[in-house]
Amino acid sequence: MKTHVQVAVIGGGVVGCSVLYHLTKLGWPDVCLIERSELTSGSTWHAAGGFHTLNSDPNMAALQGYTINLYKELEAISGLTCGLHHVGGITLADSPERMDFIKAARAMHRHMGLDTQIITPEEIKELSPIVNTEGILGGLYDPLDGHLDPSGTTHAYAKAAQMQGAEIYLRNPVTDLNQRPDGSWDVTTKNGIIHAEHVVNAGGLWARELGEMVGVFLPLHPMEHQYLITDDLPQVFTRDQELPHIMDPSGESYLRQEGKGLVIGIYEQDCDPWALDGTRWDFGHELLDNKLDRIGDSLEFAFKRFPCLETAGIKSIVNGPFTFAPDGNPLVGPIPGLQNYWSCCAVMAGFSQGGGVGLSLAEWMVYGEPSRDVFAMDVARYGNYCTKAYTRNKVRENYQKRFSISYPNEELPAGRPLNTTPAYAIWQQQRAVFGQGYGMEHVNYFAPEGEPLEETPSFRRSNAFAAIGNECRAVRNSVGINEVHNFGKYLVTGEGARAWLDGVMAGKLPQIGRVTLSPMLSPSGKLMGDFTISHLAENEYQLTASFSAQDLHMRWFEQYLPALNVDLKNISMSRIGFQIAGPKARELLAACTRFDVSHSAMPFLSVRKIEVGQCDAVVQRISYTGDLGYEIYVPVEQQISLYHTLANEGLAFDLKPFGMRAMMSLRLEKSFGSWMREYKPDYTPMETGMDRFMDYKKEADYIGKAAALKELAEPPKRQLVSFIVDAIDADVVADEPIWKDGNVVGFVTSGGYAHFSEQSVALGFVPTQMIVEGATFEIEILGEMRPAKLFSKPLFDPQSKRMQS
Ligand SMILES: Cc1cc2nc3c(=O)[nH]c(=O)nc-3n(C[C@H](O)[C@H](O)[C@H](O)COP(=O)(O)OP(=O)(O)OC[C@H]3O[C@@H](n4cnc5c(N)ncnc54)[C@H](O)[C@@H]3O)c2cc1C
Repeated sequence: MKTHVQVAVIGGGVVGCSVLYHLTKLGWPDVCLIERSELTSGSTWHAAGGFHTLNSDPNMAALQGYTINLYKELEAISGLTCGLHHVGGITLADSPERMDFIKAARAMHRHMGLDTQIITPEEIKELSPIVNTEGILGGLYDPLDGHLDPSGTTHAYAKAAQMQGAEIYLRNPVTDLNQRPDGSWDVTTKNGIIHAEHVVNAGGLWARELGEMVGVFLPLHPMEHQYLITDDLPQVFTRDQELPHIMDPSGESYLRQEGKGLVIGIYEQDCDPWALDGTRWDFGHELLDNKLDRIGDSLEFAFKRFPCLETAGIKSIVNGPFTFAPDGNPLVGPIPGLQNYWSCCAVMAGFSQGGGVGLSLAEWMVYGEPSRDVFAMDVARYGNYCTKAYTRNKVRENYQKRFSISYPNEELPAGRPLNTTPAYAIWQQQRAVFGQGYGMEHVNYFAPEGEPLEETPSFRRSNAFAAIGNECRAVRNSVGINEVHNFGKYLVTGEGARAWLDGVMAGKLPQIGRVTLSPMLSPSGKLMGDFTISHLAENEYQLTASFSAQDLHMRWFEQYLPALNVDLKNISMSRIGFQIAGPKARELLAACTRFDVSHSAMPFLSVRKIEVGQCDAVVQRISYTGDLGYEIYVPVEQQISLYHTLANEGLAFDLKPFGMRAMMSLRLEKSFGSWMREYKPDYTPMETGMDRFMDYKKEADYIGKAAALKELAEPPKRQLVSFIVDAIDADVVADEPIWKDGNVVGFVTSGGYAHFSEQSVALGFVPTQMIVEGATFEIEILGEMRPAKLFSKPLFDPQSKRMQS
C-alpha cells in the first residue's frame, strides 16, 4: 500500500470506481481507491442495473447519455463485459397530463440531440406485447434505455483505472480522517495511514458516516427499495427479441426482462427511510426483509397492466437500501468550508449517472471546474438549513414522487414550512400561496377571496393566471410591495475590500453611494454569478445575488479570499426587507423617510443609508421589475416595523403586495435574465448580453479576464434573444427547442406570460447569424409548433424612462 497519493477515493461501489477511472483518464495516475470490504459492497451489488437518460435537468440528462455511451469504451479498455442489454425503454402515459409530461420531455430531448419519440398505444403493443394498453394514450420511447450487470460494470471501471495507474486496496476500512495544516489529509485505514492531497467521499450507504468523520452533514438518506424477479414466462422466452423496459408512472413501477422472466421494481408510496441513526459498519452483502405488504396495491395495478404477471411465480425478491438527496440528484463537488474534501455521493441511479458524475468530479479536481454547469448535482445547492429531519422528509417525498409527473409550477409540500421570515404571518393573513427555495418560504402570489389557497399543478396556464395578472398591473399602475429576502447578500469590508472585489468581479466597481451590476466569471470565462454591488461606505460593500446560490458563492469567495484585510460575511438572513416598485414608489418612499429621495438626490443605481420609518435602512434604487423601484434592507428584527411603515403610508398610494410569479412576469417584459436560467456556468458574458456590465479595460487581472478578452476578439456563435410567442394556453417554461425551417436551431432558457404587455414571451439562444429583428421561428410547446417572433427592444418601457426617471 502506498503511503502518499494525490487522491484517495473512499468507496468501491460503481461511483467510486467511476471517479477512479476518470481521474486516471484525465491524467492523474497517482490515485488509489480504498474499500472497506470487496468492490460493490454497498448498494451496487443488488441494483437492478437499469439505465436511462430521463432527467428534468438537461445537463443531468446529457451526463446520463454520456454514462450510457461510456460502457462500450470501458469494455474495450478493460476487456471485461458490462453485460449490456440495449433494449430501449417506453414510459407510459395514461392521462392528458402525462401526455403533456412526455411531450415536454421529448421537446427538451430535441435540443439535446437525444433521439426519443412519442409513440402510439399500437406501437407500444408491437414493441412490448405483454403490456395491456387499455387506457394508455401514448408513450415516450428512448432507444438508449437498457440494463447491465452491476458487478461486471463496476469491475470494468476498476480494471480500466488500474490499467491506467490507479491502485485499489480492498478489505481496508477507513476509520478516521485528519487534515494537515496544508490542507492535505491523513487517511487512517485498518492497514495503516495514507497521506492524500485530496479525499473523495464515494461512501454510498456510508457517505453520511464519512462526512461525520470531518464534521460535515451531507443531506442524503438511504431508502429501502424492492424488486421482484419472476420465474420463466412463455410470453417472454418464446420471443426472439428481448423486451424493452417499461416505466409505468401510474403504477409506480419499472419492468424489464431478466433471462427468461421479468423484473418488476416498485417505488411504493408506503415507504420509509432506512437506518435513521446511521448505517452499521458491518452491514455487508445482505438484503433487508421483504415488505410485500407495502407493495400490494402497486402489484394489483401491475397485474392489470402486465397480465402475464398475475400467474407468474416469484423466483426471488430483493429489498435493499440506496441513498437519495432531497431532490434525487447526486451530491457532487467540493464541500463548502472544507479544503480538498470532495463529495461524490447520493447517486441514486449509479448505472445511469455514475459515468457522468465521475467525469464531472474528475474534471473539477483536475481542471478546477467541470466542463458544463453541474449545479443540479452540486453539493453546494444545499445549505445549513437542510436539517437531518428535513432531509428525511424530503427524501421520502422524492422517493414517493420518483415516477410522478413533475409540473413546472409545482411546489412540493413535504417538510414545509422550514425557514420563514417575520413577514410570513402577514402574508398568510393576506391569502398568500407560498413556494419554497433553498429552504425558505416565499410568496408566489396572493389568492383572491373565494379561490383556493393553492396553485393547480399544470403544464398550461394555471388557476393563478388572473391573480398574477392583477398583481402585475398593480405594480405598473401604482406601486407594489414584495419581500426581498430571497436574495443572497454578502457584506465585504476592510481595507483590502476594493482590491479583492476588483479581482473577483468582472465589472466596474461603484463609487461610494452608487450601485453597479457585475458578472463574476470562472477562469474559463463562464458566468459564476450576476451581482449587484453596492458601495455603502469607505471599505464597505454589499453584494446581492441569487438566494439559492449562497453556498456556491461562499465556496467561490473563500477559494479566492486573501488572508488579510478583507472580511466577508453572508448576511442573507440578517439583512432583509422589501422592494417597492411602480410609478408611485418614490412618493411612497418619500412619505416614509425624512431624507431627500428625489431623483437628483437619489438617482437610478444609487444606494443610501437612511432612516425609513424607525429603521436604519440600506436603500438602493434598483428594481428587477424594470420599473421605478427601491430595495429597502433592514435588520431582520425590524422587518415588521418596516412593513407597517410602508403599509400605512401605502394606503394613500393604493399599495398592493405582489409575489414571485408576478415579479418573474414583470422582468420578462424587460427581457431581464435570471440566474440559473439565462445566466449560469454554461454561458459567457457575450452570449448572454452580460458583456454590457463587463469592464474589459480595467487594470485588475480579474478571474476569467483572459477568457473574456478572447471572447471579445472572437464573438460567440450563439446569443440570448427574446421572442413573442403565439401561445394558446401554455407558455414556454424552459428547454423547449427553437425551430427554423424544419431544424432545431436553439433552445429556450425561460419565459412565460408577460401580463402587463399581454404577450407570451420566451428567452433563448439562437445562432448569431439568425438574429434579425422580427425574424420568425417556431417554438415547440407540449408537442405543438408555435410561431415566435424575435424582438430586441423591451416590451415595456423600451427607453427605460420609468426605471431611470
Ligand atoms: C434494490 C435496488 C435496485 C436498484 N436498481 C438500480 C437500477 O436499476 N439502476 C440504477 O442505476 N441504480 C439502481 N439502484 C441504485 C444503485 O444501486 C446506486 O445508485 C449505486 O449502487 C450507488 O453506488 P455508490 O458507489 O454510490 O454506493 P455504494 O454501492 O453504496 O458503494 C459505497 C462503497 O463504499 C464503501 N465504503 C463505505 N465506507 C467506507 C469506509 N469507511 N472505508 C472504505 N470503504 C467504505 C462501501 O463498502 C461500498 O462498497 C438500485 C438500488 C437498490 C437498493
